[in-house]
Amino acid sequence: MTTPKPPTAPVAADQPDADDARHRARMARKKALQDARIAQATREKGLIIVHTGPGKGKTTAALGMVFRALGHGLRVAVVQFTKGARTSGEANFARELAGRVDFFALGEGFTWETQDRERDCAAAARAWEKACELMADPRYSLVVLDELNIVLRDDTLPLTTVLEALHHKRPELHVVITGRSARPELIELADLVTEMKLVKHPFRAGVRAQPGVDF
Ligand code: ATP
Ligand code: MG
Repeated sequence: MTTPKPPTAPVAADQPDADDARHRARMARKKALQDARIAQATREKGLIIVHTGPGKGKTTAALGMVFRALGHGLRVAVVQFTKGARTSGEANFARELAGRVDFFALGEGFTWETQDRERDCAAAARAWEKACELMADPRYSLVVLDELNIVLRDDTLPLTTVLEALHHKRPELHVVITGRSARPELIELADLVTEMKLVKHPFRAGVRAQPGVDF
């Protein structure tokens, strides 16, 4: 008696067609879902955006948005709340883009460097005054308030003042706020919040801050 032959496996040449068909069907389902989601997102709105967390990239991501906005011919302003004492690549380059990006480094430096609370509060108040002026100016589409979270965390600027102003900002204006330790009330008010997670940072391995990457 002869043993029945096992069913023949599909020839290798047929396999790619089957894989392609499955892939096409999966992508068609995905596209339908994605198209439905896109169709539902119909509103335009000036956003309150917060970049926080201990990982690197908060200011860098805000500057990425500046770059993007410029590409659409939008005018942008940046206020730095804790920097100013030191130079940075972004502040240097912004001078070449004056009128498109207006850059104000109004901080006195890191709080552990000034060691003077009154001076920190005065600097924060000056930077905030400039921020309010820029946010009210209809020529700006995007205003970055860099390290605002730090002065709010340290109470060198009253949180209520900031929340009140953001609540009443021009509806079409995008505001990006950066810095570690964002206050929960600000997170609550914001439309878009991203937390940078520290996975690895070369500073911990003794590598110093480097131009073009860190400042
Ligand atoms: P960046 O400006 O590079 O996007 P950041 O805005 O996320 O950093 P800050 O807290 O503003 O972070 O960082 C101040 C400086 O410290 C920057 O030069 C930054 O590159 C560096 N830095 C950021 N995160 C870390 C970290 N986890 N450890 C050490 N240095 C950091
Ligand atoms: Mg930063």
